Amino acid sequence: MKYKLASSYGFCFGVKRAIKIAENTPHSITYGPLIHNKMEIDRLKSSFGVGLTENFDELSSDNTVVIRTHGIQKNELDRLKESSFDVVDATCPYVTKPQEICQKMSAEGYDIVIFGDRDHPEVKGVMSYADNAERVFVVLGADELFTLKLREKIAVVSQTTRKFTEFMQIIQALISASKEVRVFNTICNATGENQEAADELSKEVDIMLIVGGKNSSNTKQLFEICKTNCKSSFLVESASDIDEGWFDGKNFCGISAGASTPDWVISEVIDRVSKI
Ligand code: SF4
Repeated sequence: MKYKLASSYGFCFGVKRAIKIAENTPHSITYGPLIHNKMEIDRLKSSFGVGLTENFDELSSDNTVVIRTHGIQKNELDRLKESSFDVVDATCPYVTKPQEICQKMSAEGYDIVIFGDRDHPEVKGVMSYADNAERVFVVLGADELFTLKLREKIAVVSQTTRKFTEFMQIIQALISASKEVRVFNTICNATGENQEAADELSKEVDIMLIVGGKNSSNTKQLFEICKTNCKSSFLVESASDIDEGWFDGKNFCGISAGASTPDWVISEVIDRVSKI
Protein backbone atom coordinates (compact mmCIF):
# COMPACT_ATOMS: atom_id res chain seq x y z
CA MET A 1 0.00 0.00 0.00
CA LYS A 2 1.29 3.42 -0.92
CA TYR A 3 1.25 5.74 2.09
CA LYS A 4 2.11 9.29 3.09
CA LEU A 5 2.68 10.82 6.50
CA ALA A 6 1.15 14.15 7.44
CA SER A 7 3.72 16.96 7.25
CA SER A 8 3.29 17.42 11.02
CA TYR A 9 2.13 14.68 13.37
CA GLY A 10 2.69 13.07 16.75
CA PHE A 11 4.96 14.42 19.45
CA CYS A 12 5.75 18.11 19.25
CA PHE A 13 9.27 19.53 19.09
CA GLY A 14 9.47 20.13 22.86
CA VAL A 15 8.44 16.58 23.78
CA LYS A 16 10.77 14.98 21.23
CA ARG A 17 13.61 17.12 22.54
CA ALA A 18 12.89 16.18 26.16
CA ILE A 19 12.83 12.47 25.30
CA LYS A 20 16.16 12.76 23.49
CA ILE A 21 17.65 14.54 26.53
CA ALA A 22 16.36 11.79 28.86
CA GLU A 23 17.67 9.04 26.57
CA ASN A 24 21.06 10.77 26.57
CA THR A 25 21.02 10.89 30.38
CA PRO A 26 20.50 7.22 31.33
CA HIS A 27 19.85 6.35 34.98
CA SER A 28 18.81 9.92 35.69
CA ILE A 29 15.65 10.87 37.54
CA THR A 30 13.03 13.30 36.27
CA TYR A 31 11.56 15.79 38.71
CA GLY A 32 7.87 15.34 37.94
CA PRO A 33 6.71 13.41 34.85
CA LEU A 34 8.92 14.31 31.87
CA ILE A 35 5.89 14.46 29.52
CA HIS A 36 2.19 13.62 29.74
CA ASN A 37 2.50 10.12 28.32
CA LYS A 38 2.73 7.11 30.58
CA MET A 39 3.74 4.61 27.86
CA GLU A 40 6.75 6.72 26.98
CA ILE A 41 7.72 7.28 30.63
CA ASP A 42 7.58 3.49 31.16
CA ARG A 43 9.75 2.95 28.08
CA LEU A 44 12.35 5.45 29.34
CA LYS A 45 12.37 3.59 32.65
CA SER A 46 12.75 0.10 31.18
CA SER A 47 15.16 0.98 28.35
CA PHE A 48 17.24 3.78 29.88
CA GLY A 49 16.71 3.42 33.64
CA VAL A 50 15.21 6.93 33.80
CA GLY A 51 13.28 7.18 37.08
CA LEU A 52 10.67 9.64 38.27
CA THR A 53 10.01 11.43 41.52
CA GLU A 54 7.84 14.34 42.58
CA ASN A 55 9.45 14.52 45.99
CA PHE A 56 12.69 16.39 46.58
CA ASP A 57 13.52 14.25 49.62
CA GLU A 58 13.57 11.10 47.48
CA LEU A 59 16.57 12.38 45.50
CA SER A 60 20.02 11.18 46.43
CA SER A 61 23.29 13.02 45.87
CA ASP A 62 24.40 10.80 42.98
CA ASN A 63 21.23 11.50 40.98
CA THR A 64 21.30 13.52 37.78
CA VAL A 65 17.98 15.36 37.78
CA VAL A 66 16.16 16.04 34.51
CA ILE A 67 13.70 18.97 34.50
CA ARG A 68 10.44 18.08 32.74
CA THR A 69 9.11 19.60 29.50
CA HIS A 70 6.61 21.89 31.25
CA GLY A 71 9.25 23.30 33.59
CA ILE A 72 9.19 23.58 37.37
CA GLN A 73 8.94 26.46 39.82
CA LYS A 74 11.95 28.74 40.19
CA ASN A 75 12.44 28.04 43.90
CA GLU A 76 12.50 24.28 43.19
CA LEU A 77 15.07 24.74 40.42
CA ASP A 78 17.21 26.96 42.68
CA ARG A 79 16.98 24.37 45.46
CA LEU A 80 18.12 21.59 43.13
CA LYS A 81 21.06 23.63 41.89
CA GLU A 82 22.04 24.77 45.40
CA SER A 83 21.93 21.16 46.59
CA SER A 84 24.65 20.44 44.00
CA PHE A 85 22.64 17.95 41.97
CA ASP A 86 23.62 17.66 38.34
CA VAL A 87 20.65 19.32 36.68
CA VAL A 88 19.79 18.73 33.02
CA ASP A 89 17.06 21.06 31.86
CA ALA A 90 14.57 19.55 29.39
CA THR A 91 12.12 22.44 29.75
CA CYS A 92 10.72 23.21 26.30
CA PRO A 93 12.24 26.48 25.01
CA TYR A 94 8.68 27.67 24.27
CA VAL A 95 7.99 27.36 28.01
CA THR A 96 11.27 28.97 29.07
CA LYS A 97 10.31 32.04 27.04
CA PRO A 98 7.27 33.12 29.14
CA GLN A 99 9.27 32.33 32.30
CA GLU A 100 11.96 34.80 31.17
CA ILE A 101 9.40 37.41 30.13
CA CYS A 102 7.64 37.13 33.48
CA GLN A 103 10.92 37.58 35.34
CA LYS A 104 12.09 40.55 33.26
CA MET A 105 8.79 42.46 33.09
CA SER A 106 8.04 41.88 36.74
CA ALA A 107 11.48 43.26 37.66
CA GLU A 108 10.65 46.33 35.54
CA GLY A 109 7.53 46.96 37.62
CA TYR A 110 4.87 45.57 35.31
CA ASP A 111 1.83 43.69 36.56
CA ILE A 112 1.86 40.26 34.88
CA VAL A 113 -1.28 38.77 33.37
CA ILE A 114 -1.05 35.10 32.36
CA PHE A 115 -3.78 33.62 30.18
CA GLY A 116 -4.01 30.00 31.30
CA ASP A 117 -4.93 27.46 33.93
CA ARG A 118 -3.44 28.32 37.32
CA ASP A 119 -3.30 24.63 38.29
CA HIS A 120 -1.25 23.60 35.26
CA PRO A 121 2.45 22.95 36.06
CA GLU A 122 3.56 25.17 33.20
CA VAL A 123 1.59 28.16 34.52
CA LYS A 124 2.73 27.54 38.09
CA GLY A 125 6.30 27.58 36.79
CA VAL A 126 5.84 30.82 34.83
CA MET A 127 4.16 32.56 37.81
CA SER A 128 7.06 31.63 40.06
CA TYR A 129 9.45 33.78 38.01
CA ALA A 130 7.74 37.03 39.00
CA ASP A 131 9.59 39.29 41.44
CA ASN A 132 6.34 40.08 43.20
CA ALA A 133 3.92 37.13 43.43
CA GLU A 134 1.07 39.47 44.43
CA ARG A 135 1.25 41.26 41.09
CA VAL A 136 0.74 38.14 38.94
CA PHE A 137 -2.79 37.40 37.76
CA VAL A 138 -3.85 34.20 36.02
CA VAL A 139 -7.08 34.36 34.02
CA LEU A 140 -8.95 31.93 31.81
CA GLY A 141 -11.14 34.55 30.15
CA ALA A 142 -11.50 38.30 29.55
CA ASP A 143 -14.46 38.46 31.97
CA GLU A 144 -12.14 37.66 34.89
CA LEU A 145 -10.12 40.82 34.25
CA PHE A 146 -12.88 43.14 35.45
CA THR A 147 -12.59 41.94 39.05
CA LEU A 148 -8.83 42.63 39.17
CA LYS A 149 -7.24 45.83 40.36
CA LEU A 150 -4.49 46.11 37.78
CA ARG A 151 -1.93 48.89 37.76
CA GLU A 152 -1.14 51.03 34.71
CA LYS A 153 1.75 48.99 33.32
CA ILE A 154 0.79 45.46 32.31
CA ALA A 155 2.66 42.66 30.56
CA VAL A 156 0.61 39.77 29.24
CA VAL A 157 1.69 36.25 28.24
CA SER A 158 -0.18 33.05 27.46
CA GLN A 159 0.12 29.42 28.47
CA THR A 160 1.67 27.79 25.38
CA THR A 161 -1.31 25.59 24.47
CA ARG A 162 -4.09 28.19 24.60
CA LYS A 163 -6.25 29.34 21.68
CA PHE A 164 -5.07 32.48 19.91
CA THR A 165 -8.59 33.91 19.45
CA GLU A 166 -9.22 33.76 23.21
CA PHE A 167 -5.85 35.36 23.92
CA MET A 168 -6.84 38.21 21.58
CA GLN A 169 -10.03 38.80 23.60
CA ILE A 170 -7.94 39.21 26.75
CA ILE A 171 -5.53 41.58 25.00
CA GLN A 172 -8.42 43.68 23.69
CA ALA A 173 -10.00 43.95 27.12
CA LEU A 174 -6.67 44.95 28.69
CA ILE A 175 -5.90 47.56 26.05
CA SER A 176 -9.27 49.22 26.41
CA ALA A 177 -8.83 49.53 30.18
CA SER A 178 -5.11 50.27 30.65
CA LYS A 179 -2.52 52.89 29.70
CA GLU A 180 0.34 50.53 28.78
CA VAL A 181 0.04 46.89 27.77
CA ARG A 182 3.06 44.87 26.62
CA VAL A 183 1.85 41.80 24.72
CA PHE A 184 4.02 38.70 24.30
CA ASN A 185 2.60 36.00 22.07
CA THR A 186 3.86 32.86 23.80
CA ILE A 187 1.33 30.48 22.23
CA CYS A 188 2.90 27.42 20.62
CA ASN A 189 0.87 26.12 17.71
CA ALA A 190 2.16 22.53 17.68
CA THR A 191 -1.36 21.06 18.04
CA GLY A 192 -2.73 23.43 15.38
CA GLU A 193 0.02 22.41 12.99
CA ASN A 194 -0.90 18.73 13.37
CA GLN A 195 -4.53 19.58 12.66
CA GLU A 196 -3.76 21.63 9.55
CA ALA A 197 -1.47 18.90 8.18
CA ALA A 198 -4.08 16.15 8.80
CA ASP A 199 -6.74 18.29 7.13
CA GLU A 200 -4.59 18.74 4.01
CA LEU A 201 -3.49 15.12 3.77
CA SER A 202 -6.98 13.66 4.26
CA LYS A 203 -8.10 15.53 1.13
CA GLU A 204 -5.44 13.74 -0.96
CA VAL A 205 -5.84 10.10 0.11
CA ASP A 206 -8.56 7.44 -0.11
CA ILE A 207 -7.96 5.99 3.36
CA MET A 208 -6.66 7.74 6.44
CA LEU A 209 -5.29 6.27 9.69
CA ILE A 210 -5.00 8.38 12.83
CA VAL A 211 -2.79 6.76 15.44
CA GLY A 212 -3.44 7.56 19.07
CA GLY A 213 -5.28 6.82 22.28
CA LYS A 214 -9.05 6.49 21.96
CA ASN A 215 -9.37 8.72 25.04
CA SER A 216 -6.91 11.33 23.78
CA SER A 217 -8.87 14.46 22.96
CA ASN A 218 -6.41 15.85 20.41
CA THR A 219 -6.31 12.44 18.61
CA LYS A 220 -10.13 12.43 18.43
CA GLN A 221 -10.06 15.98 17.06
CA LEU A 222 -7.69 14.84 14.30
CA PHE A 223 -10.00 11.92 13.52
CA GLU A 224 -13.05 14.23 13.24
CA ILE A 225 -11.17 16.59 10.91
CA CYS A 226 -10.05 13.71 8.66
CA LYS A 227 -13.49 12.11 8.62
CA THR A 228 -15.02 15.22 7.03
CA ASN A 229 -12.57 14.95 4.10
CA CYS A 230 -12.12 11.19 3.85
CA LYS A 231 -14.98 8.81 4.73
CA SER A 232 -12.55 5.91 5.23
CA SER A 233 -10.80 7.41 8.25
CA PHE A 234 -9.93 5.10 11.14
CA LEU A 235 -8.61 5.76 14.63
CA VAL A 236 -6.15 3.05 15.71
CA GLU A 237 -4.30 2.75 19.00
CA SER A 238 -1.66 0.45 17.59
CA ALA A 239 -0.79 -1.64 14.50
CA SER A 240 -2.83 -4.57 15.85
CA ASP A 241 -6.07 -2.52 15.49
CA ILE A 242 -5.67 -2.38 11.70
CA ASP A 243 -8.18 -4.41 9.67
CA GLU A 244 -6.79 -5.23 6.22
CA GLY A 245 -10.37 -5.28 4.83
CA TRP A 246 -10.40 -1.46 5.21
CA PHE A 247 -7.87 -1.26 2.38
CA ASP A 248 -9.91 -3.19 -0.25
CA GLY A 249 -10.08 -1.07 -3.41
CA LYS A 250 -7.88 1.63 -1.84
CA ASN A 251 -4.54 2.82 -3.23
CA PHE A 252 -3.24 5.63 -1.08
CA CYS A 253 -3.20 5.77 2.71
CA GLY A 254 -2.56 8.89 4.78
CA ILE A 255 -1.18 8.57 8.31
CA SER A 256 -1.31 11.06 11.16
CA ALA A 257 -0.95 10.73 14.93
CA GLY A 258 -2.02 12.53 18.08
CA ALA A 259 0.39 14.67 20.07
CA SER A 260 0.78 12.00 22.76
CA THR A 261 1.56 9.09 20.41
CA PRO A 262 5.13 7.80 20.67
CA ASP A 263 7.14 7.44 17.44
CA TRP A 264 7.63 3.70 17.92
CA VAL A 265 3.85 3.11 17.91
CA ILE A 266 3.58 5.12 14.67
CA SER A 267 6.52 3.18 13.14
CA GLU A 268 4.74 -0.12 13.79
CA VAL A 269 1.62 1.21 12.03
CA ILE A 270 3.70 2.40 9.04
CA ASP A 271 5.37 -0.99 8.85
CA ARG A 272 2.04 -2.82 8.84
CA VAL A 273 0.51 -0.50 6.19
CA SER A 274 3.54 -0.78 3.92
CA LYS A 275 3.15 -4.58 3.92
CA ILE A 276 -0.53 -4.55 2.86
S1 SF4 B 1 5.30 24.40 24.21
FE1 SF4 B 1 4.71 23.48 22.26
S2 SF4 B 1 6.55 22.42 21.53
FE2 SF4 B 1 6.84 22.89 23.71
S3 SF4 B 1 6.15 21.05 24.78
FE3 SF4 B 1 4.40 22.42 24.72
S4 SF4 B 1 3.25 21.84 22.86
FE4 SF4 B 1 5.31 20.96 22.71
